[in-house]
Amino acid sequence: MEFKSAPNTIGKPIKCKAAVCRGAGEALVIEEIEVAPPKPGEVRIKILCSSLCHSDLTYWKFKSGPLSFFPRILGHEAAGVVESVGENVDEVRFGDLVIPVFRRNCGECRDCKSPKGNTCTKFAVRYQSGMPRDGTSRFKDKDGQSIHHLLNVSSFSEYTVVDITHVVKMNPDFPIDMACLLSCGVTTGIGASWKVAKIEEGSTVAIFGLGAVGLAVAEGARLRGASKIIGVDLIPEKFELGKKFGLTDFINPTNCGESSVAEGGCTIILGMEMHGKPISINPYELLAERTIIGCLFGGIKPKVDVPVLAQKYMQKELNLEGFKTHEVKFEDINQAFDLLEQKKSLRCIIWMDA
Ligand SMILES: [Zn+2]
Ligand SMILES: [Zn+2]
Repeated sequence: MEFKSAPNTIGKPIKCKAAVCRGAGEALVIEEIEVAPPKPGEVRIKILCSSLCHSDLTYWKFKSGPLSFFPRILGHEAAGVVESVGENVDEVRFGDLVIPVFRRNCGECRDCKSPKGNTCTKFAVRYQSGMPRDGTSRFKDKDGQSIHHLLNVSSFSEYTVVDITHVVKMNPDFPIDMACLLSCGVTTGIGASWKVAKIEEGSTVAIFGLGAVGLAVAEGARLRGASKIIGVDLIPEKFELGKKFGLTDFINPTNCGESSVAEGGCTIILGMEMHGKPISINPYELLAERTIIGCLFGGIKPKVDVPVLAQKYMQKELNLEGFKTHEVKFEDINQAFDLLEQKKSLRCIIWMDA
């Protein structure tokens, strides 16, 4: 593993390469940037690999509105090693294998201490494009212009700075690319089955949309002992792939009945695919004890629950390998965007040092 002894960059800015997005929908450009040292409560991470999540595509395309910031360093699924830490950080040290996570988990606030959900209210303000404590950036381009962060992570850079409340320490022997997969999408899907739906043995589960996250919902449902796991999608070819993750049946959405949720059943909304479009519901449907729940990161408390999933992988109960369909070098990062846009990949691992 990297950093056998303390790196000589501690406390200094680091010049490195990053894939910078200069405008909505524009190809990323590898540029030399400067990454500031971590402030108190922060960790500077040498990224080993990233993978492309569908939310990166969503943010990449925002032309305007409150979530649109350019120039920006995208990427929020990654694994790396700690290069240095700011004051008041003792949870990790240089050389530790970590994954950054967009969902906060301070472990101290009332919400983190509650067994319910995965909200963390450590910081009063939610900044959309900077560090979570003060909203400022740790990245500058070669002209000294500040570059925006994405989702508290920004992993398409050789180095990034992440708040300690967004860092999960991994076992040093854990495979790096599999650690990366636990950083967002796959964990979101499994979490939706496990922590939010709390699927019981013998349940019937329907999944609308069979990308990596949908298939992770199936994997989570399989682990929970669901007896029928139905994929609802427009592409029948997905069924063969889905069988590897526990899918037992496949239907075309046009064959769905009036209500696809049984009385007493639960609907979970876990992604951004509806792009803020309102939903309309006949309230009579809800009288039959149907519920609708929204969740972020599948209700997973990162520092508590990700280690449980990591252990399940090590015990060969959890299929993570199946999600890794492609690998590219950092310089070919735009290929990962093409593959995901064309629905050819589930997860493409982008290696920083290949
Ligand atoms: Zn994601
Ligand atoms: Zn908290």
